[in-house]
Amino acid sequence: MPKSLDPKCKKCRREGVKLFLKGERCAGPKCTLLKRNYPPGVHGPKGKKRSTEYGQQLREKQKAKRIYGIFERQFRNYYDKAIRQTGDTGQIMQQLLQTRLDNVIYQVGLGKSRGQARQMITHGLFLVNGKKVTIPSYQLKTKDEITIKPERTKAKNFADLEKQINEEKIPAWLHFDMKTKTTKILNKPTGSELDLSFNPRLIVEFYSK
Ligand code: SF4
Repeated sequence: MPKSLDPKCKKCRREGVKLFLKGERCAGPKCTLLKRNYPPGVHGPKGKKRSTEYGQQLREKQKAKRIYGIFERQFRNYYDKAIRQTGDTGQIMQQLLQTRLDNVIYQVGLGKSRGQARQMITHGLFLVNGKKVTIPSYQLKTKDEITIKPERTKAKNFADLEKQINEEKIPAWLHFDMKTKTTKILNKPTGSELDLSFNPRLIVEFYSK
């Protein structure tokens, strides 16, 4: 059996969960994790090692960083920003991550993965409230509108949007208008709309030591 050398899939194997880093392949039968759900470097499933409290906090932080494709310094900044605001630090961190421009492009289905969304943004395909934005981490606010740059509407990424975008899968805090190809931020995600793929409490505990 050929070894999986894909660095993105290795990240999922390290965390033991799907991080959805490779677009369509992640939802299909070719997902590496379906065949090799054990950490890279381990020759076959060996049962899970018990993890310390610190180990669990560290793994949760690594998982969240990998999901959003963020380096340590920037990820730590989200914690620093969140702790300065009033409210639940973990929830504010989740909101800050989810309202990044690259995440929103991915969530509505304009990008097949967050990685692809980042690339599309840096290539200047989008306007936020009519102004070109090329920063994937750009922080969106309620009522912001993201449109496709008029000269780029014919780009191959947008050739078959009716097929590509499943409006039923778009989270309730976002709205996508197929006619105008406009995404609108309706509100900040809260409750079950928050990213439940990681435990923010463990991350807050990690950084607050
Ligand atoms: Fe690879 Fe995607 Fe499966 Fe992760 S979820 S192992 S990135 S195919």
